[in-house]
Amino acid sequence: MKLHIANSMKMIKIKKLSKLIIYCYMLSAICYMLSGCVTIPVKEPLRVYSLNGTIYYALAPLCDLRGISLKYDTFSRTANLFKDSHSITLKVGDNLILVDQRAILLNHPVDIYQGAVVVPGQFKEQTLDILFKSAKITAMRRTGPLSLVIKKVVIDAGHGGNDPGAIGRRGVREKDVNLDIAKRLANRLRAEGVQVVMTRSSDKFIPLETRVHITNNSKADLFISIHSNANRTRSLHGFEVYYVSTSVSDSKRAAYSAKNTYLNLDSSCFASQSQDLKAILWDMVYTYNRAESIELSRAICRSADDNLAVMVIGVKNARYQVLCGAQIPAVLVEVGFLSNQNEEQMLKSSDYREKLSQSIMEGIRNYARGSLNKGEGAG
Ligand SMILES: [Zn+2]
Repeated sequence: MKLHIANSMKMIKIKKLSKLIIYCYMLSAICYMLSGCVTIPVKEPLRVYSLNGTIYYALAPLCDLRGISLKYDTFSRTANLFKDSHSITLKVGDNLILVDQRAILLNHPVDIYQGAVVVPGQFKEQTLDILFKSAKITAMRRTGPLSLVIKKVVIDAGHGGNDPGAIGRRGVREKDVNLDIAKRLANRLRAEGVQVVMTRSSDKFIPLETRVHITNNSKADLFISIHSNANRTRSLHGFEVYYVSTSVSDSKRAAYSAKNTYLNLDSSCFASQSQDLKAILWDMVYTYNRAESIELSRAICRSADDNLAVMVIGVKNARYQVLCGAQIPAVLVEVGFLSNQNEEQMLKSSDYREKLSQSIMEGIRNYARGSLNKGEGAG
């Protein structure tokens, strides 16, 4: 992927996180002096709205209900939520929020409706409810459907059309194997109420940039690319999962994203530093995404190891273009080697492809449970 690096971005060094926190404190201090932060006293029922088809909650009653203290600064239009040792920073007009200094990208921005700050349902369900959990919600999530944690997944069947990918000695084509497993996985996810976006659902050539574009416009939680391997050494065999290489610079990707994506941080308070700040926030998003991608890779490998009679090579990192470009946690699953006679035979079998999709599905489920436990641990 071609990255444009603004000269100013070279200034961004390792301690971006602490730099950002200092920024936030300085800005809050300035804003406090200029306009005064207000602790909003509320005693009112939960208010729910549907804005352009998305469920939104009024923030103040939501916080009130959970005993979270809320400070809203009208000048910077920033809300700070505190409870116990946790803090959340939200900004009107922004999709990006900071939860205990960790950046999280929401599918919809924080907004103002009828004069009140409103937050998307996703924020309530995936952040507030987990961080400041209630026993009832936790119990529901433990036993509840996967779609409570993961709403939408992009499934990318590698290759297609005039690009067959690897071809086995017996003529099994990678593009067909990938698409079949992708469709089976999509069916499984849909059966659990998870929305699926497929980069291709037929034997069609889709350029890599288009796959990345589809992914970044999908507002999905995860990206899963399905491929089959090949190697000159025909004895090589096994199942492996890739995440984006640590040699890919998050700062460079962040600088590119800050310049070219919708994340909007421009406002009176952030105006002068907006480009730098955006890059810092994107850098945090990429760092977070890589950590999540590693978790997901591990969960899928563990599941394959438990459920498939195949050697699991393990988790690896690589500079795959689709993975570099994705702005959400992204993994690439290499289901087996078509260059290996045994594995080509296995991949030819629809029963085995069904088992593969089942294993990947189980991995996603375990990943979701793991991220839930992390939330519970923090709460
Ligand atoms: Zn491939």
